[in-house]
Amino acid sequence: MKIVVLKFGGTSVGTIEKIKNVVKIIRSYKKKKYRVIVVSSAMSGVTNSLINKSKQISENFSDEEYDVLVSSGEQAACSLIAGRLLHFGLKSRSWMAWQIPILTNGKHKNSRIIKINRSKIIKYLKSGGIPIISGFQGINKYLRITTIGRGGSDASAIMLAKFFQAEKCVIYTDVEGVYTTDPNKFDKAKKIKVISYEEMLEMASLGAKVMQPVSIQDARLNRIDIEVKSSFVNKTGTLITKRSNIKKNKVITGISSTQNDSKVTLVGVKDKPGVAASIFKPLSKNLINVDMVVQNISANGKETDLTFTVKSEELVKTKKILLSNRQIKFRRLLFNKGVSKISIIGVGMISTPGVTFRMFQTLANKKINIQVISTSEIKISVLIKEKDTSKALMALHKEFELD
Ligand code: ASP
Ligand code: MG
Repeated sequence: MKIVVLKFGGTSVGTIEKIKNVVKIIRSYKKKKYRVIVVSSAMSGVTNSLINKSKQISENFSDEEYDVLVSSGEQAACSLIAGRLLHFGLKSRSWMAWQIPILTNGKHKNSRIIKINRSKIIKYLKSGGIPIISGFQGINKYLRITTIGRGGSDASAIMLAKFFQAEKCVIYTDVEGVYTTDPNKFDKAKKIKVISYEEMLEMASLGAKVMQPVSIQDARLNRIDIEVKSSFVNKTGTLITKRSNIKKNKVITGISSTQNDSKVTLVGVKDKPGVAASIFKPLSKNLINVDMVVQNISANGKETDLTFTVKSEELVKTKKILLSNRQIKFRRLLFNKGVSKISIIGVGMISTPGVTFRMFQTLANKKINIQVISTSEIKISVLIKEKDTSKALMALHKEFELD
């Protein structure tokens, strides 16, 4: 059986007109002799409005009832899609997670799919039916309805593709694919035809707009090809696949940048074991997300400087936590708002020497000062002044022939 999983996000089913359009897309796969499994999210805005209602009922709305409430958005969307297919005389029906069932474990509001029962859906596919399955929801061992975290219908789609051994999983959304850099920030950004899971994961700021990062990781572990495309225009999107499927001529696949970052420096911290742990433990306890971290070598063997970045919204909280931390001593605390992390990403850099130098030289030519550097196998990130972001993006985009 040639199975394809088609996932439609909230904007793709946002209005009745759009749902009618989605049905056209589903029919085009049927014509290509695919057995089609459809996964839908709720119509855009619906989940948020349900969450708002729960808050008005109680500030302490029960997690169990939250799941029952917010999963209902998907139920409505699935029924509308199935209804439209039936209107055209096609065989279709909606399937809620509990009817299949899609089993989850873990906490309410944030469960994980652990198993999907195949038998009913396989039988239905063989009979020529088009199952429209609700994304985002599952059922736990107590037979209670669960949800799997915001944006979770991506994860539902990937898991369905896994359990039904689909040939591919197509994620329909409101953007045409993944771009070399944010097309809203830079008009020369180009749509990427093929990208590896690893690169996609590193492109957090670009990729996350398109798909949930945890779902990309799940797809990677299960070797599921994902095609991301727009449901509004009929154009090829971006294929996310394993590295060995990709023939590349470019060293760099994409460039990402962050916004609203702040830099924190602790000057003159004691250079002894356990210090970094004592600094970061209370931050992580308070759910402050620390990004780049660098520690200088200590010139005198006694003291060192430690720098890290956090989101600017969390700067005040970070400052308070550091100042009230009795485990650590430092001479001075410095804060810099308005920094941005620029990253160049590409598996090509593994086999190509000189990429780091090219990046630094390009920034130097533009008189952009690099404050912090960090690297991984397929990514080089630098911290610069936020006001230099677009200048840096443009120069690097050109240098690495992405224009
Ligand atoms: N409707 C859910 C949400 O808005 C799930 C999803 O869109 O993937 O979070
Ligand atoms: Mg959504």
